[in-house]
Amino acid sequence: MTSLRHRFDPVRWQALPWSTTAPTDRQSVLASQVRHLQRLLVHAQEAVPLFRQRLAAAGVSPGDVQSLADFHRLPTFTRRDYQDVEPAHRIADGLDPTTLLDRSTSGSTGERMTVHRTWFEERLLNLFRWRAWRTYGLRLTDRMAVLYFHRNVDSRDSQRIQRAAQALGLYRNRVFDALGDPRLAQAVADFQPHAISGMTSAIAHWVEAAADTRSTLRPRFIATGGELLTEPLRARIAAFGVPIHDLYGCNELNLVAWECPSGNGHYHVCDDAHHVEVLDAEGREVPVGDWGEVVVTSLFSFAMPFIRYRLGDLARRGPDRCPCGAAYSTLLAIGGRTIDRFPMADGRWLHPWEVINGVRPHFSWIRQYQLVQPSRDRLVFRVVPRTTPTPAMVQGLTQSGQKALGGRATFEVELTESIQATASGKPRPFVALNRERAVGTTNGTEDTN
Ligand SMILES: [Zn+2]
Repeated sequence: MTSLRHRFDPVRWQALPWSTTAPTDRQSVLASQVRHLQRLLVHAQEAVPLFRQRLAAAGVSPGDVQSLADFHRLPTFTRRDYQDVEPAHRIADGLDPTTLLDRSTSGSTGERMTVHRTWFEERLLNLFRWRAWRTYGLRLTDRMAVLYFHRNVDSRDSQRIQRAAQALGLYRNRVFDALGDPRLAQAVADFQPHAISGMTSAIAHWVEAAADTRSTLRPRFIATGGELLTEPLRARIAAFGVPIHDLYGCNELNLVAWECPSGNGHYHVCDDAHHVEVLDAEGREVPVGDWGEVVVTSLFSFAMPFIRYRLGDLARRGPDRCPCGAAYSTLLAIGGRTIDRFPMADGRWLHPWEVINGVRPHFSWIRQYQLVQPSRDRLVFRVVPRTTPTPAMVQGLTQSGQKALGGRATFEVELTESIQATASGKPRPFVALNRERAVGTTNGTEDTN
């Protein structure tokens, strides 16, 4: 029951990010990271079979790790490493996966990843996101509209604290379905939000849908996230006329970095929640200003640890202190995922999420996918299966895709053994017409959406 000891360890309560005051002492930030990493490694070796085996194979014991340099000699882990072991092997001994919250990735990378957290871990990681919003000016009593195309909701998450807070008029978030709600613009206007957050292209979609209600709204800021904020997307959202701040996160860790509130373009890395490395092809830290692969370690995920986990994103490393004075390490740009809209034969746009939401019930046998548009009236869903599907399973998937399209285009399923990665490090999940070439490695990438 080692893992249970860690679930309510008082040291972690001290780590709660209540204050928005940035640290100024870099040495104490690093010393705190080393302390948390040592605790995490002891736990992972004692209680999580995946790490017990891999650390033993590498000939490393947690006692060997006395500094960040020592830590950087540990092996790295990929999404595939996690998916290839039994669920019980990636989760701490003594925890029942069915009692944990399921924060599995929703599919925006095309490659599904099962993520489990305790209720406490979920709340703790959310607090870091709240802190970022508060540095942008969110107040305790504010209403925030959250715009999504799809949200992974776990019915076991009772949201007790949020409901109690909302009953007191605090932290009032409301989630809007930017794709399925024909009254989206009016619904958001009726809510009168003080701030807007959510998925970048969902926000861009809303900004255009909200042209008539724009004058009735005065949000203090818009916080984007979940996909690359390209310059064209930023321009579409900027039409609303309020400050835009970008957040970089992932399902596995929640918030990884957030744009400096001072507007200098650097992203503050969430150093008190995660240890983030930017590495070259040989696994060495890249110099400041260079692009490299993002490798992350979550300091507070004990139910399912993420240790030197390769996110698959590229980022441009910034200085180990933001020009604003905050002692956070920084990223200068993120080369994350982009989501194309598909131009259809009737002259309208199809957002790929409309199709993905329709085929989601079939995800259990799909390891990875790519939705390709060879022509305006034809979509091909390329699938790397987890197990060999029966003809009936393929037919069921095809029918779900056809139904989601509602006759706007044909939908075919193509089984394949692999999907090639793009220059950004990740396979491209959505390839709209005439967009087959790899794009999306910088924040300045052209985007015709
Ligand atoms: Zn800063």
